[in-house]
Amino acid sequence: MDKIVSLAKRRGFIFQSSEIYGGFAATWDYGPLGVELKNNVKKLWWNRIVRSRLDVVGMDSAILMHPDVWEASGHVEGFTDPMIDCLTCKSRFREDMMEKPGQCPNCGGKDLTEARMFNLMFKTEAGSVEGSTQDVYLRPETAQGIFVQFKNVMTASRLKLPFGIAQMGKAFRNEITTKSFIFRSREFEQMELEYFVKPGEDEEWFDYWVSERDKWYKQYGIKSEHLHLREHDKDELSHYSKRTIDIEYDFPFGQKELEGIANRTDFDLKAHIEKSGKDLVYFDEQTRDKFVPYCIESSAGVDRTVLTFLCDAYEEDVIDNEERVVLRFHPAVSPVKVAIFPLMRKEPQINMAKDIFDSLKGCFNCMYDQTGSIGKRYRRQDEIGTPYCVTVDFDSIEDKAVTIRNRDKTDQVRIKAAELKSWFDGKFE
Ligand code: ATP
Repeated sequence: MDKIVSLAKRRGFIFQSSEIYGGFAATWDYGPLGVELKNNVKKLWWNRIVRSRLDVVGMDSAILMHPDVWEASGHVEGFTDPMIDCLTCKSRFREDMMEKPGQCPNCGGKDLTEARMFNLMFKTEAGSVEGSTQDVYLRPETAQGIFVQFKNVMTASRLKLPFGIAQMGKAFRNEITTKSFIFRSREFEQMELEYFVKPGEDEEWFDYWVSERDKWYKQYGIKSEHLHLREHDKDELSHYSKRTIDIEYDFPFGQKELEGIANRTDFDLKAHIEKSGKDLVYFDEQTRDKFVPYCIESSAGVDRTVLTFLCDAYEEDVIDNEERVVLRFHPAVSPVKVAIFPLMRKEPQINMAKDIFDSLKGCFNCMYDQTGSIGKRYRRQDEIGTPYCVTVDFDSIEDKAVTIRNRDKTDQVRIKAAELKSWFDGKFE
């Protein structure tokens, strides 16, 4: 894990937030490569869940919502973690983080408080006039934005069951245990799908979505042996869930949740019907039935997915008797798709390499690099997972051909520069 954290910082994937002020706990900033990687993760999710399907639409709701939303959803009452304070070292930890019963996981001290419940929602105030402000919460999940707009989205898009509404966006939780890099932070992003079905068809759809989501990770290169489906025991289920399966990943710090798939039944829509007094029922035109749909949720963390891709891609190997670090990202995930180099820092080669950069930059993310030996430049790209490097050499000026070097096999092909665009076509999907 230390190697990944240090690579992430050195190469500009992920930095500690507010680092020059000593950092701010459990918040992270994405650098130039990190933002590309994260955007790729979101794009691949959105394309699969929303764009490629007839039965799912997207939306983007506000982070601040009416405080009653969180009363209705049960978050004000129940979104809590049992926390214990160590009176010896003053650390606070979640009850389930205790490795040995009655012993502080930080200092081993035994002078502990009883477990006390802490709400994980961040509270703030809306309005600026003293006395007229209103307590509001930063959303701890994006899902409620979907439930409260269920009727509007369904009507506007003329949707018939089964159908889904998806959104991606920031969520905030005042987590106490915040180690493990971007795995658990206080500000993070979620990618959530709420898929509405007829009651009675929920179990079948639940299985369908577990399998779809599992396939998605594998398709983009996560090794099957590192992914596990873990069913929640009855006493572990959230207050809204009839059944939950977590997709877990073997992180360097253990097997942990990457995504949760839950059968939320009609819990949320019913809760909002009751609290708001609004009619959020579904009318089946064929059977003339009115009912509240059941909902299957797939809830994945963007940051945890980024971390999963980083951990799974990280490898050290030896090429030409030289050790290298390589991120073996699936090409669709790689932050940079193609790096372009002039072999020598000479004008005709530089100009040709920059022309190639200009001709490709509109199609996918490219990088230009003219410093250091060619071997060093390859290593720099391997370390950030760039699948292809294009080199313009002395002969290129005459024959208008360039060399393409592949990250994984490190083999090379020579093709006409004019054919590059079509050669790369379809390679980053
Ligand atoms: P955990 O048990 O790890 O705290 P959770 O069960 O509370 O997670 P959910 O409420 O199911 O998580 O949230 C859905 C997804 O959102 C998680 O699978 C995870 O990918 C992501 N997520 C939740 N909390 C965080 C966090 N603090 N930092 C980063 N991602 C998070």
